[in-house]
Amino acid sequence: MAKSLDLELAATTKIYGETIAVDAINHKFAAGTYSCLLGPSGCGKSSTLRMIAGHESVSTGDIVLGGTNITDLPPARRGTAMMFQNYALFPHLSVVDNVAFSQKMKGVEKPVRLKKARQLLELVDMAAYAERLPSQLSGGQQQRVALARALITEPSVLLLDEPLSALDPFLRIKMRLELKKLQRELGISFIHVTHSQDEALALADDIIVMNGGKIEQAGSPRDVFNTPTTEFVARFIGGHNVLQQKGASVALRADRLRVKKAAGEDGAVLTAFVKDVEYLGSTVNLALDAGGAGDLTAALTDEAFFQDPIEIGATVFLTWKPEDAHQLAA
Ligand code: ADP
Ligand code: MG
Repeated sequence: MAKSLDLELAATTKIYGETIAVDAINHKFAAGTYSCLLGPSGCGKSSTLRMIAGHESVSTGDIVLGGTNITDLPPARRGTAMMFQNYALFPHLSVVDNVAFSQKMKGVEKPVRLKKARQLLELVDMAAYAERLPSQLSGGQQQRVALARALITEPSVLLLDEPLSALDPFLRIKMRLELKKLQRELGISFIHVTHSQDEALALADDIIVMNGGKIEQAGSPRDVFNTPTTEFVARFIGGHNVLQQKGASVALRADRLRVKKAAGEDGAVLTAFVKDVEYLGSTVNLALDAGGAGDLTAALTDEAFFQDPIEIGATVFLTWKPEDAHQLAA
């Protein structure tokens, strides 16, 4: 199998006409890690991925894989491989021929390439479907074939652009676990583009949050979730309140907000009006109007909530531990 290598972006920039899609980003994807590029639509995730793959030219800056500058190499010679969003399988070729296709182009002999294609199909649990046509497969199965087809080139870095977005929610969670397992088994780097916070938190060793062509924050899921450094990240990653304290913005996790029915001895910091109560199974979310402090969300465990339920329209008192409020960059 392929070597696992560090991939480095150095002031990598993509400009389309007047649009700066990717604005001089710097990041090192450590060898053998699962990274997620996370951000809203249009923030430059796909452009970044396509530049890494060599499917899009780099306007300025460099891309370095394992010490080799690959910025201007063609896709097939970079040591990267891309799995496309729509899978892009050839409809007239069988599953095994789809997987073997790039080897055929390279002039690898038929028995050798078919053997290798079958090994890859084994890896993604699709060996039994080798002779079928893509149209005879479900979406999830087509995706596995597309994965096998990308992996046959033995890349050091596998690039995946929103690979789970076409699947139904149940299959999405199943495939998410399988992608992570596959990455662990292969030991190569996966770089996965998503706009789903849940997906990034569940999958990634490293999350790179992008906004407007720049990297807002990069770190482990726990770092990014527990200590968002900007208001954008706090709001985008979800589960947080952003409030003003002594003239500065702070982020406070919704499950760290303590809700009391009476102003206690420990001193309520804010008074709020309960606008709505949302039952979510293991948690209950309160939508709160805290006057000048704005709209806040408190997430209570179902147990805590049902011990002493709070009604819509009630006035409540909010406190939190000082260490749970994280200062945000201006
Ligand atoms: P994301 O994948 O995060 O949604 P993209 O990388 O696709 O973002 O796009 C980033 C920005 O670049 C957007 O403003 C988009 O409209 C623009 N863009 C993307 N591809 C092209 C292109 N081929 N030509 C012109 N503009 C493009
Ligand atoms: Mg995209």
